[in-house]
Amino acid sequence: MLTFLAGIMIGKAMDKKQKKALKRAQKKKKLKKEAQETQAKVGRKMEMFNKLPENCSICGSSFPKTKEAHMSWQVKVWSERQEVTLVCPPCLAEK
Ligand SMILES: [Zn+2]
Repeated sequence: MLTFLAGIMIGKAMDKKQKKALKRAQKKKKLKKEAQETQAKVGRKMEMFNKLPENCSICGSSFPKTKEAHMSWQVKVWSERQEVTLVCPPCLAEK
């Protein structure tokens, strides 16, 4: 009877330990997956950013690398075409 109880105790203890280890492994796996997903997202964004044209896609005027230009020029990301187009404020106004 005592052995039996001890067995249950040990069994429970091991179960708890195993559960803890399993939980830790799952958490690690989840974190790793999240990190991979984030990296993939950033990678895709960087890819898009590298595709950013240097000229307006409509009139061809060059894009000044200023804060104002970044705020006023419109960047369109065509994810299905994997394309990025840039439109200057005058062209935006013409639309
Ligand atoms: Zn333009």
